[in-house]
Amino acid sequence: MTLTVIGSGSSGNCYLLQNEEEALVIEAGLPFDQTVKAALGWNTDKIKAIIVSHRHDDHAKFAWQYAEAGYLTFAQKDTIESCHLNGIYSVKGMQPGHGFKVGGFSVLPYPLNHYNTDGTKCPTVGFLITHTDCGRVCFFTDCESFTREVMTDDGLRYIPYDFPNVSHWMMECNYDNAIINRSKHIPDYVKDRIKHSHMSLTNTLKVARHVDLTSTREILLIHISDGNADDRKFVREIRAATGKRCYAAHPGLVIDYSIR
Ligand SMILES: [Zn+2]
Ligand SMILES: [Zn+2]
Repeated sequence: MTLTVIGSGSSGNCYLLQNEEEALVIEAGLPFDQTVKAALGWNTDKIKAIIVSHRHDDHAKFAWQYAEAGYLTFAQKDTIESCHLNGIYSVKGMQPGHGFKVGGFSVLPYPLNHYNTDGTKCPTVGFLITHTDCGRVCFFTDCESFTREVMTDDGLRYIPYDFPNVSHWMMECNYDNAIINRSKHIPDYVKDRIKHSHMSLTNTLKVARHVDLTSTREILLIHISDGNADDRKFVREIRAATGKRCYAAHPGLVIDYSIR
């Protein structure tokens, strides 16, 4: 099993989790074109499904191409409606907390906090993906922090997720506070929006230190900003904090995800 990065970041996200027989496409923010087909060894029949985290163009813009080609396309109601996917027979609704199986892949969508440019909440999910070839993959992107909302007697609490036995992490690490604060050409309201909608290096480090990495092979940092990040520093700091191999997601990167 391998993980191929087709694209990662605000210009378009798409990742392929595949072995010889089966492939799962994570995110459809880039066209279903020659690049994707070549990365699949021109064997598009092995695509079991496409899973889309939320409605934004860099994740969902090209979902219709997969759906209209007849591939099972899983998205939340909000994405289906805003991306005009209603009525396409291969489009399937999904909800956080409700797992499903496609081929040998088990997929559990779980909720993340993310916002639209107008400040409204954008329903977004991360994915826990399990397959006998790669073990458990935990994917999260486009969120301020890796927490779930829990209502207790004294109010709303944000509790960090604690998923056990994760072999491969795909963690958003979008921006560096020091770089974004220094930036003169980003208006303050945009800085605020980024900070509430994406993971800073500080927050990704918090996650990396909190989660159980006992079974973890490596950490892939995804959705790295073009202007507000330093991917070498990100990799260095996450590696130093965890002692795990760490990669920055760039188009064409292929990582061996096999655990056998
Ligand atoms: Zn995004
Ligand atoms: Zn987004």
